[in-house]
Amino acid sequence: VLPVVAIVGRPNVGKSTLFNRIINQRLAIVEDKPGVTRDRNYAQAEWMGHKFDLIDTGGITWEGGKIEEEIRAQAEIAIEEADVIVMLTSVVNHMTDLDERVAHLLYRTKKPVILAVNKADNPEQRNDIYDFYSLGLGDPIPVSSSHGTGIGDLLDAIVDKF
Ligand code: GDP
Ligand code: MG
Repeated sequence: VLPVVAIVGRPNVGKSTLFNRIINQRLAIVEDKPGVTRDRNYAQAEWMGHKFDLIDTGGITWEGGKIEEEIRAQAEIAIEEADVIVMLTSVVNHMTDLDERVAHLLYRTKKPVILAVNKADNPEQRNDIYDFYSLGLGDPIPVSSSHGTGIGDLLDAIVDKF
């Protein structure tokens, strides 16, 4: 049984982009069935010889569900199923009420939570991540899922918790 890593966070912070960046994209494409348009939300990944299962909880949605309910359910899935939880937020838009809500939901787990701040595409944005210390989830790790920067540091932090 492989360790499970779950990505949680409010919509639009880049969870699916990070998920696709971390997983072996070739595998994802091979396993995708024609006609399936739903976001892929579960895949195997590997970093420095550590294999793990990765879940994008944002890909798990309920029709008609309110955003607060969806976020709660996604956090619960992460808390129940994951060995390591990555809370993802974004430097664009700074911190929002929904970020605080996600963080609060994660306070009640004893499982390791890693805070990653996405869309830190340039040095100036990487300096903006310090606001996120106030979420109370430790040192924020800046990443740019679209550029691929910081992903190695995030993966090092994840496998360090296995
Ligand atoms: P999700 O709702 O959390 O799964 O977010 P998505 O992965 O769908 O991304 C939402 C939007 O943010 C898309 O337009 C992405 O292209 C964009 N995005 C994702 N990662 C980055 C990043 O590192 N930098 C920038 N500038 N945009 C990003
Ligand atoms: Mg998504």
